[in-house]
Amino acid sequence: MGAAPAGARAGAAIDRVRPVSLVELPAGRTAPDGSGRAVPHVRIAIVGTGFAGLGLAIRLKQEGIEDFVLIERADDVGGTWQANTYPGCQCDVPSHLYSFSFAPNPDWTRTYSRQGEIWNYLRDLARRHDLHAHIRFGHELTGATWDEAHARWHVETSRGAWTAEVVVDATGPLSHPQVPAIRGLRRFPGTAFHSADWDHDHDLTGERVAVIGTGASAIQFVPRIAGEVGQLHVFQRTAPWILPHTDRPTTRLERRLYRAFPLAQRIVRSAVYWSRESFALGFIKDQRFMKGAEKIALAHLRRQVRDPELRRKLTPQFRLGCKRVLLSNDWYPALTRPNVELVTESIREIRGRTIVLSDGSEREVDTIIFGTGFHVTDPPTARLVRGRDGRTLAEAMSAGIQAYLGATMGGLPNFFKLIGPNTGLGHSSMVFMIESQLRYVMDALRIMDEQQIATFEVRPEAMTAYNAQIQSMMPGTVWMSGCASWYLDAAGRNTTLWPDFTWRFRYRTRRFNTRAYELRRRADLPAPAAAEAAA
Ligand SMILES: Cc1cc2nc3c(=O)[nH]c(=O)nc-3n(C[C@H](O)[C@H](O)[C@H](O)COP(=O)(O)OP(=O)(O)OC[C@H]3O[C@@H](n4cnc5c(N)ncnc54)[C@H](O)[C@@H]3O)c2cc1C
Repeated sequence: MGAAPAGARAGAAIDRVRPVSLVELPAGRTAPDGSGRAVPHVRIAIVGTGFAGLGLAIRLKQEGIEDFVLIERADDVGGTWQANTYPGCQCDVPSHLYSFSFAPNPDWTRTYSRQGEIWNYLRDLARRHDLHAHIRFGHELTGATWDEAHARWHVETSRGAWTAEVVVDATGPLSHPQVPAIRGLRRFPGTAFHSADWDHDHDLTGERVAVIGTGASAIQFVPRIAGEVGQLHVFQRTAPWILPHTDRPTTRLERRLYRAFPLAQRIVRSAVYWSRESFALGFIKDQRFMKGAEKIALAHLRRQVRDPELRRKLTPQFRLGCKRVLLSNDWYPALTRPNVELVTESIREIRGRTIVLSDGSEREVDTIIFGTGFHVTDPPTARLVRGRDGRTLAEAMSAGIQAYLGATMGGLPNFFKLIGPNTGLGHSSMVFMIESQLRYVMDALRIMDEQQIATFEVRPEAMTAYNAQIQSMMPGTVWMSGCASWYLDAAGRNTTLWPDFTWRFRYRTRRFNTRAYELRRRADLPAPAAAEAAA
């Protein structure tokens, strides 16, 4: 990557996109877009090819639905697992659960898979289910506008447009890297990049490197680069809770067993699921359950860090679970290396190559790596989606984003967001939540067909009541116990996490609840739209 300015580089995944040849869509219909251009029309436009987008595409094909397009800004499928190629990238939920229930993989080589293996799993699924004919790589969504007169969406991308009956936003909660606004960063003459956009062409050997952030990604890549760089300064705002990692290679016997008896793997998956579900007790019901885990974490810290001053800096000052709980056996040892410094002073500014701290001290560095997370509560796609009343989703939700079942939002007819507000988890697999929502979307499409429904839109009172209930469950959860975290929006509301057991989410999303929606039948559309809908 060379010496590109940090602000311009970080998060610029689109830069890596290669041109691809376009394959004809299975359905060759066209329809005029807003300006009268004839553009391809599809029943469903899915944006994103991570677990969520691919999962939905697979479910559609299983139901014989071929009339859909998958829009993807990157040059390959995989989402999170395509973008995050930083050293040490690994899931922190056991792989038997962090995978689709309908596509178990008996061949996981570790209990917690590494990035390459998860990415390959997703690429393999896309190949096996013949999804490539539907995917448009290198297409970044630039706008989606609801056309009330024709009851359809106009979908604009960097390289082409569509009209669609239904839009599914599967752009992911952690796909837009966040870089803090530090004075002087843009003028930093060295190399700077975000962990989600790792610069593999840049050689860190012997360099003076700053890592900003000590969250889930940083604790994975810092131990991998600590031995390679000359000097490493790790900038920590708050010390995270770290539990010992139980990751291990799987044995040949286990893999053979799962291949020969898929039921054995399903039993293990189920055991992992229920043991994780029991963790929810501490997160949402009674924080006293966290005390045992805190003792384990503090013993882990004591065992691995002898220096009392360093240990003090690494001792978390909030309840375990309030921020994401992290797993690592090599994070603390990395920080005890002679060439690694843990810096807890805040950054005042960057002057040339020098990072100036609030106490006036300075660190000169060649490279800055941001492990500073993602735009979670302010997703950029919210500014691209324009609903029935002409307002963008961001404008409509300026008081805080919310949705019904994390999937549908008032003012956005025929629109689903996968892994939308209040579907995140601190204790279990996001793939479980994604699968719950896939079932919900598939049920909605079935009902649209059966009842000749042209449009659905969640009723404001249903959305308000649902969110009031979700927010009423937040006080008393560990996430509201007094720490600042990316789970909370600017107003301090938790719009990110599901505050209950995940099986309750599965139960609530088992059917598309038509009573919560304003439905318009095809026959009730104005004449031109009805004719097009029938075509
Ligand atoms: C490093 C890391 C580790 C994680 N580990 C775990 C874990 O162990 N367990 C767990 O449960 N969860 C984990 N997560 C959360 C993870 O994001 C989810 O589990 C899951 O992968 C989300 O899938 P998704 O399809 O919703 O989104 P993503 O995988 O983020 O996919 C979104 C896709 O949308 C595309 N996209 C975004 N914007 C646009 C646009 N404007 N136009 C076109 N395409 C666009 C992106 O390129 C991407 O391909 C982790 C996240 C990260 C970042």
